[in-house]
Amino acid sequence: MCYYVRGNAVPSDNLKKDKAEQKMYNHRDPKRKNRRGTQENKPAEHLLSHLPRKTRLILAIIGVALVAALLFTGVLETDLHGMWEEVFGSDISGKKVYAPANENTLLEVHVLDLGQADSIIIRCGEHAMLVDAGEYQTGAKVVDYIKSLGIGRFDYVIATHPHSDHIGAMRLIPRNFTVGEFFMPEKEHTTNAFVKMLDEIEEKNIRLTFPAPGDKITLGDAEITFLSPAPGMEFEDMNDCSIAFIIDFGNVSAVFTGDMGVKPEKMILEAGYDIDCDIVKIGHHGSKTASSREFIEAMSPEYGIITVEKNAKSNLPAKTIVNRYKEYGVKLYRTDLNGTIVIKTDGNDIRFKTER
Ligand SMILES: [Zn+2]
Repeated sequence: MCYYVRGNAVPSDNLKKDKAEQKMYNHRDPKRKNRRGTQENKPAEHLLSHLPRKTRLILAIIGVALVAALLFTGVLETDLHGMWEEVFGSDISGKKVYAPANENTLLEVHVLDLGQADSIIIRCGEHAMLVDAGEYQTGAKVVDYIKSLGIGRFDYVIATHPHSDHIGAMRLIPRNFTVGEFFMPEKEHTTNAFVKMLDEIEEKNIRLTFPAPGDKITLGDAEITFLSPAPGMEFEDMNDCSIAFIIDFGNVSAVFTGDMGVKPEKMILEAGYDIDCDIVKIGHHGSKTASSREFIEAMSPEYGIITVEKNAKSNLPAKTIVNRYKEYGVKLYRTDLNGTIVIKTDGNDIRFKTER
């Protein structure tokens, strides 16, 4: 029996639809229309057309030299940067900027309070994805929460790694919701939760993909880049095979790393991915096994979220890690203290709403 689709993710129909929709919205962007209109008028040509050809040439050379001088001194930098983004949708460094096509579109991240377990819902416009589903015992809470948001379909579901605090209740997701595509690391487990999860995926005929670092998918106007694990990579610790990714939406980025430790963190850094972000879902429930200084420095996040249980025997989050993030000036949100955490952003401003 073959459960898996090997290799890179092939764009699904849904993905193609996203791109078509994005194009449609781009055409509707009033700013773009204005810019095109200004260019069509060409006022400069009218003013100079009566001058002799030689004079026009000299004026053009002076003009080019003047712009070059202003650029060199940095006077025009900000305006040109903004204009470049507006026209081309990417910044001068060449990095694609995923600006909301519709200004009412928000990116929402719901980090559920399930004790020391993960379940995160990410929504962008009409599109939604789920990252992990927590333990089986809290599965009903996850299903109810998703239903309360009015979500009936996930474009993507990610099972970061096969531990029960991440996939314990995963079998309930295909049973209750339509799933476009399922992502998991190429790592098998012998647990009941793992087997039942695969059974549901097979029964519902859901496309199953092992993403490779560098693979990209879009969720509405947001772009997701997978960072880890590399295909065929063998880790002693199952946590290290966690799927990690960065999501970019407008000027806001967030990194999710499941329970992976410092080894894959180092590999991500060595691979040279841009992981500079505003928000990080802190690795492995704030354990000392993750969050190396080098990784935090490369991310330079403003906010950190820890999924952790109150009064748990595990002593998580580790004091060293909490202090480390504080040392870097990262504002921390914790499910044990704040309950369920909801983040909303328009691509510029980031707002947090917590249960307590
Ligand atoms: Zn975990």
